[in-house]
This record gives sequence, C-alpha cells and structure tokens, in this order.
Amino acid sequence: MKPRIFITRKLTEEAVAPLHEKFDVRMWDEESVAVPRAVLLKEVAEADALWSVLADSINREVFEAGTKLKIVANMAVGYNNIDLEAAKEYDVIVTNTPGVLTETTADLAFALLLATARKLISAENEIRKGNWTSWAPMRFTGMDVGGATLGIIGMGRIGEAVARRAKGFDMQVLYHNRNRKPDAEAEYGLEFRELDTLLKEADFVIILAPFTPETAGMIGVRELDLMKNTGVLINVARGGIVDEAALYDALKNGTIWAAGLDVFEKEPVPLDHPLLTLPNVTVLPHIGSASIKTRLAMMNLNAQAITDVLEGRKPKGIVQ
Ligand code: NAP
Repeated sequence: MKPRIFITRKLTEEAVAPLHEKFDVRMWDEESVAVPRAVLLKEVAEADALWSVLADSINREVFEAGTKLKIVANMAVGYNNIDLEAAKEYDVIVTNTPGVLTETTADLAFALLLATARKLISAENEIRKGNWTSWAPMRFTGMDVGGATLGIIGMGRIGEAVARRAKGFDMQVLYHNRNRKPDAEAEYGLEFRELDTLLKEADFVIILAPFTPETAGMIGVRELDLMKNTGVLINVARGGIVDEAALYDALKNGTIWAAGLDVFEKEPVPLDHPLLTLPNVTVLPHIGSASIKTRLAMMNLNAQAITDVLEGRKPKGIVQ
C-alpha cells in the first residue's frame, strides 16, 4: 500500500502531480475555505504525511490522532500554528519553507510601507468614489519615505532583504534582535538599537520577528507611546505580536500616525474589527509571500520534504 498524504488545502495540480505516482494523495477540495476540524482529524488518522497551511492549528490533538504521521510540512516560514513540543513527543518531523519567500515578502513589506506612508489605497478609493474634484494642496498628503529612519524588529532573512531595499531609498536603518549581527551591520550599514530606543528614533517601524511566547504582545501601549506621533507601524510578521486594542487607541488618539497590517490576531480579520473603521490603517489579507513563483517554490519545497521523509531521507527545512 502506498503511503498516504493529506493536504489541508486545495493546491495547484502542478505542485501535487509529481506525488501521485508514489503516494496515495488526498486533498481538501477548497482553496479559500479551511478544512473542517472533524475532517482534518479523520484524515490525519490515516496519513503518513500532513501538508498544512498556516491557517491550520496543528496542535496536540492532531498529533494524538495521527498515529502513523511522520512529517508535517507547513506551507509557510512561520510555524507558530504547530505545537512543536507535541511533534517532538510523537516523533514527527516538522518542516517549513524558509528562504524561497524572503525577497517576495520583503517586496510586500516595502510596498505596504509605501502604501501606508503615502495613503495609496485610500487615495485610489477616493477616485473610484468620484471624490477627486480637483488637485488639492494638502489633501492626500502623507509621510516621506526617502531619507527617513526605518527601524526593523527582527533582522532575519526578510529583515535583511527589507534593509537592502531601504538603502535604495537613502534610509537610515536601525534594527533590534536578541543577537547583534555584526556582518549585516558592516555589509548594509545597519545600526543596532535596544527596542525602546529603536521605537523612539524610527519614523517607520517594521515587525519581522517570529511569533513566539517572547514576541506575543511585544508592541503594546507602552511601546506605541514611545513611537513618534508621526510614526508608522508596519506588521508583516504575525498578528499576535501587536496588541490590536492598544494599536486602535494609538491610531485613534494620534499617538502614532498610521499603521500598515498584513497580519492580524484573528484571520481573516472580522469585518466589524475596530481597526477597520480607522482611515489611517492600510490592511492586506496576509499576502506577504503571494507571488506565483514564490507560492510554487514553497509548494515544491513542501512536496520534496514529504517525499524525502516518506522515502527515508532527511528533508530540508526541518524546524526541530
Ligand atoms: P528569520 O530569518 O528566522 O528571522 C527572524 C528574526 O527575528 C531573527 O533574526 C531573530 O533574531 C529575530 N527575533 C526572534 N525573536 C526575537 C525577539 N524576541 N525580539 C527581537 N527579535 C527577535 O525569519 P524570516 O524568514 O525573516 O521570517 C520572519 C517572520 O516573518 C516569520 O517568522 C513569519 O512569521 C513572518 N512572515 C510573514 C509573511 C507574511 O505573509 N506576512 C511571510 C513570510 C514570513 P534573534 O534570534 O537574534 O532574536
């Protein structure tokens, strides 16, 4: 009998086709609807490999049900949706997709920064609503990006790629990590700052750290207070890193000037979320890695990791 793979989202046939010959592939048949929990638990019980996306909670319950499971391949670089402790206990390998999405996500982070600073989306909406009556001296005005100071929290692969883009805009680039990166400092002219100092000095703050117990709620009332009132916060990492209630107050009260968010505590962000009522928030539906080429590269990495594990080889991209 062929080993069984369960894929939790409808993926493009191009990525899945190579698996059919060697494996028994089962796949949830919706692209924009998450697999129901009961279906996931039933399918995982028969699966040797699980191919998940970041919207799936792969918690202890899943590992308990997956008695034959050898690998969870997650279609994301972040893996905060997976209980790594349970994976270890049940001896299941977990893989992610680092590297292949770095430049694409950095493009999106920079695009969101520009869009938020220059109010691109609300300006376009005004045209479509018929509200562009004449050129107006101070209407649609935003913040300059060129020559401004950028603070990056989480100077990893994507952080460095954003820093390189920022250098093309003549920005001063500050960063905060738990460990300093002397090589990147020398190569890209980055300057290390403690978190509070970075928040005080930066015109733009971009979060690019993973979601961990340490980073959960890392940006709250106190941190937003430290930012400039002309400051812009961009979050392309994970929603739970920013306290959304505190962010709402900071944006409403003018503690900071604007925010650009690709990620939310709860996704999809509920339509009645208070942040969506504010004019100074630019929102995107978690599309950091969403280019055709990159999404295919992520799928290929996952498919290769599953093939490797099911054929007894060590896969690339093991997260534990
Ligand atoms: P990475 O190379 O692992 O970089 C993460 C960086 O964060 C590391 O340099 C790490 O440095 C730093 N960090 C970790 N904990 C920290 C803390 N407590 N305080 C400050 N810095 C901390 O990861 P990456 O590939 O750049 O991806 C970063 C994150 O972006 C992912 O984890 C994912 O959640 C998110 N992401 C989002 C999208 C999207 O679609 N919006 C797409 C891709 C990735 P130290 O260990 O020295 O602290």
